[in-house]
Amino acid sequence: MKINAGWNFDNSYARLPGVFYSEMTLNPVSSPSLVKLNYDLAKTLGLNTEQLQSPEVIQVLSGNEIPEGGFPLAQAYAGHQFGHPTMLGDGRAMLIGEHITPTGDRVDVQLKGSGRTPYSRGGDGRAALKPMLREYIISEAMHGLGIPTTRSLAVLATGEKIVRETDLPGAILTRVAASHLRVGTFQYAASLDSKKELKALADYAIDRHFPTIEKDGNHYLAMFKEVIKRQAILIAKWQLVGFIHGVMNTDNMTISGETIDYGPCAFMDTFHLETVFSSIDVQGRYAYGNQPKIAGWNLARFAEALLPLLHDNVEKAVELAQNELYAFNTYYQEHWLDGMRGKLGLQAKEEEQDAELSEKLLGIMQNNRADFTDTFRFLALGEVDKLELSKNQAFIDWHKAWKERIESQEGGEVGARKKMKKHNPVVIPRNHLVEAALDAAEDGDLSVMEELLQMLSNPYAYTKEQIEYGIAPQQVNPTYKTYC
Ligand code: AMP
Ligand code: MG
Ligand code: MG
Repeated sequence: MKINAGWNFDNSYARLPGVFYSEMTLNPVSSPSLVKLNYDLAKTLGLNTEQLQSPEVIQVLSGNEIPEGGFPLAQAYAGHQFGHPTMLGDGRAMLIGEHITPTGDRVDVQLKGSGRTPYSRGGDGRAALKPMLREYIISEAMHGLGIPTTRSLAVLATGEKIVRETDLPGAILTRVAASHLRVGTFQYAASLDSKKELKALADYAIDRHFPTIEKDGNHYLAMFKEVIKRQAILIAKWQLVGFIHGVMNTDNMTISGETIDYGPCAFMDTFHLETVFSSIDVQGRYAYGNQPKIAGWNLARFAEALLPLLHDNVEKAVELAQNELYAFNTYYQEHWLDGMRGKLGLQAKEEEQDAELSEKLLGIMQNNRADFTDTFRFLALGEVDKLELSKNQAFIDWHKAWKERIESQEGGEVGARKKMKKHNPVVIPRNHLVEAALDAAEDGDLSVMEELLQMLSNPYAYTKEQIEYGIAPQQVNPTYKTYC
C-alpha cells in the first residue's frame, strides 16, 4: 500500500532565479528513528496523523527520501553576524518543499541538521539531539505564548554520532515556517551584480507575505514598512515575556515577522536589562535590553539592501528609507506599552503616566533582582505577599499607587486581574525546566519534556498545577550559558 502522508507541495521558492538556492541531493543517515512528533501541528497542516510514524514518513523526515512533489534545496543568503557582513546560506538545513495547508496557507517544510550543502563552509551540516529538542520546546512555547514563530513538526534521531567537543547523538528537526526569507536573503540579493534578482526576490516576498500591498504605488517601500511593523510587534512581544533570542544576526531576522533560529536563546528568570545567556555573545550585543535597538539596526541593513528598489536616485531612496525607519521605535513603543498595560491590568484610557508606572516597576525589579515572570503572575493572582519584593519599600509604594489606579477603573481589581492573566504567562520555559527535560530526553526519558510541553501549551490557563510548576527556582544559576 502506498503511504499518503498528506503532503501537498508547491515549490514557489524554486521558481526564483537559480542564484537563490542550490538544488540538493540527499545526505542519507543510517538508522533514523522518531523521537518527538507534533500531532497538533500535523493536524493543522492537514497531514495524515495515522501515517506519520510509518517508515516511509520517517525516511522523508530524516532526509533519506524525497517526498512526492518535494524539491530539496538549500537557500543562499548573507548576513551581518555580530555586526560583520558574511556570505552564509543553509549550511545544515534544506527545504524539502512548501506545503499548502487545507486552509490555503503556504509553509516551508525544512529539515535542520540534514547534512552538508554547498553553503556548509567548514561545518558538518549536522545537529545534535539536545539543541534540536531545545528548538522544539522553545518554539512550541513561543507558539503557546501567542508569539509569531516557526514551529516544530518532528525531531528524529539519526542513529549517527556527530563530532563536537564530545561525540553527540545526531538529530534532525523538521521546521515549519511561513517562509525562510530573511533580511540576509535580501542582503545576498543586493550583493549580486544586477538589480533583476533583487527585484525578483522583493516581488516574491510581497506575493508571499504581503499580498494586499497595491502594486501601483511604491510597493517596495510599502513592504519595508510592513516588515518594520511586524518586527516591532515581534520584538515587543519578546520583551514582554523575557525572551532573549541570543543571535539576532540579520540572517536570523525573517521578513514574515516570525521568530526564527532557536540557538542560544533563553528566557530570563531574574529581571535585568543586561541579561545574556549565549556563550558566544561575549560583548552582550544581543542582551535582553538591546533587542529593540538591534532590531532597528538590522532593519537599517534591510533598508540598505532595498535602496535600489526604493528610488532611482540614491539620496531620495535613503531619505524614504530613513523616514520609515524612524517609525520602528514608535511602533515598538506603542506595542510594548500596550502589552505592559495588559500586564498591569490597566483598562481605562491610556494615561500619560502609564509608561512611567511600567518603567518604575521594572526598575524596582532590576534593583532587587526580582523574578520577571513571578512578579507579574503574583500581581495577577493578587498574591504579592508571595514575592520577596513585597518587603521592599519602593515596591510597597509602587504597589499602593498601582492599586489605587486599578481600583479607580471600571471593573476594579477583579476586572484588572482577569485582564492580567491574559497577558502574564503563569509558566514559561525556564532554564532549569528546559535543561531537566533535555537531560532526561538524552537518557531516553521523554516524559519530563512531555510534561513541560503540556504546561507550556496554554501558559495563560492558570491551573493549580501550572501555578506550582511555573514558579521561579529557589536558586537561579547566575552563570547559566546556552550554546548553538
Ligand atoms: P546560525 O548561527 O544557526 O544562524 O547559523 C549561522 C550559519 O552557520 C548558517 O549559515 C548555518 O547554516 C551555518 N551552520 C551552523 N552550524 C553548521 C554546521 N554544523 N554545519 C554547517 N553549517 C552550519
Ligand atoms: Mg542554484
Ligand atoms: Mg541562522
